[in-house]
Amino acid sequence: MTRAEMEKGTNVICEASFFYADCYCAVDILQKDRDGWAIYEVKSSTDPMQDQYIADVAFQKYVLEHLGISVTSAHIVCLNNQYVLEGDLDLQTLFKIADVTDVADDMRQQIPAIIEEGKTILASREEPGTDIGENCKDCSFWDYCTRMLPKPNVFHLYRMKMGDKVDLYRKGLISFSQLSNSGMIKNEKQRRQIEFELQEKRPWIDQKKIREFLQTLTFPLYFLDFESMQTAIPFCQGTKPYSQIVFQYSLHYIEHEHGELHHKEFLAESGPDPRRSVAEALCRDIPRDVCVTAYNKAFECTRIRELAEAFPDLAEHLLCIADNIQDLLIPFQKGYYYSRAMGGSFSIKSVLPALYPNDPLLDYHNLEGVHNGGEAMSIFPKIQYMNPEDQAKARENLLRYCELDTFAMVKVWEELVSVASVL
Ligand code: SF4
Repeated sequence: MTRAEMEKGTNVICEASFFYADCYCAVDILQKDRDGWAIYEVKSSTDPMQDQYIADVAFQKYVLEHLGISVTSAHIVCLNNQYVLEGDLDLQTLFKIADVTDVADDMRQQIPAIIEEGKTILASREEPGTDIGENCKDCSFWDYCTRMLPKPNVFHLYRMKMGDKVDLYRKGLISFSQLSNSGMIKNEKQRRQIEFELQEKRPWIDQKKIREFLQTLTFPLYFLDFESMQTAIPFCQGTKPYSQIVFQYSLHYIEHEHGELHHKEFLAESGPDPRRSVAEALCRDIPRDVCVTAYNKAFECTRIRELAEAFPDLAEHLLCIADNIQDLLIPFQKGYYYSRAMGGSFSIKSVLPALYPNDPLLDYHNLEGVHNGGEAMSIFPKIQYMNPEDQAKARENLLRYCELDTFAMVKVWEELVSVASVL
């Protein structure tokens, strides 16, 4: 089909596909120009000058040129992260096009050797002996490739850069006992993580500090959590590619000490800009002067301030809410409460099972359809295309997921109150 289109004189061909000596490539956009063809490789990121993108384009250029096609230029097309949607989409400024012809040409000499190496690996019945390294970050084969390592190991250390972990791994400092004896771990939280694990220590609870923290929370006490989505192509006025757009929240609240737990929730319609409806619902559901908790509050505070900027008529109320937010993460992040089961992480997904092991009501695995923020973000924009029955189901799943997030926060707060009063 590609050959037919090229012979026909088609000016722009998407997914133009080529074979040369067992090498296959598909060019995202092939555009005819006066002296030949220009290659455009389209990526969803905002940084075009990444090594793997350039290698991709260099390989395409190599294949096309060996088929006798004149490649006049090679480009990487990315999103412009400075683009702000104002009015209709402006496609000229939404995309950033980098001419990488020269850089791709500089790689030309290396390509035959890389292709030979690839062919050898493909032909072999043995796995390549590549060791794990910095490039493994986020690879879906991670569990497989690390299956022989002791657990926990250097890669479980809290807040250490992947490069530093790999350095320790290459020095043979892999298990927690090796790390503990090495004198290489200087970070206090990482040292505590190792110590608690090796000595099977009981939870560390600083009752005084927890009490002081709890004194910063006042009734009526609210527990707030947002769900948001990001789209490559902005659809809300005033936003950029991959801006966080809030579409849902859950809110638990207790009016007074020993009071009942109440719940409110909001989920916008899938499709249109959800922000106004979220902002109005927040102002309706949260009074200006109440104490609101969030877990890792920077996210909620930033989203609320963005809403205030987008809707000046609601700004005063929204900013009051943002100003009143306290962070439930603090007692764990600051080390007032630490247990071995947290494994060095203070995310609520690690803290909750550590505080309430094996509680089915707090187990995200028991939810239907939506188990984490990533799934929520992916399902919400698809709801508009579903039939009514699936829409209702998906909305219900989203609501129950978000509700569990704030219920989890309530349970975390209850545990803090409990340890502060009984120890
Ligand atoms: S984790 Fe992925 S990138 Fe790392 S060695 Fe295994 S397969 Fe390769």
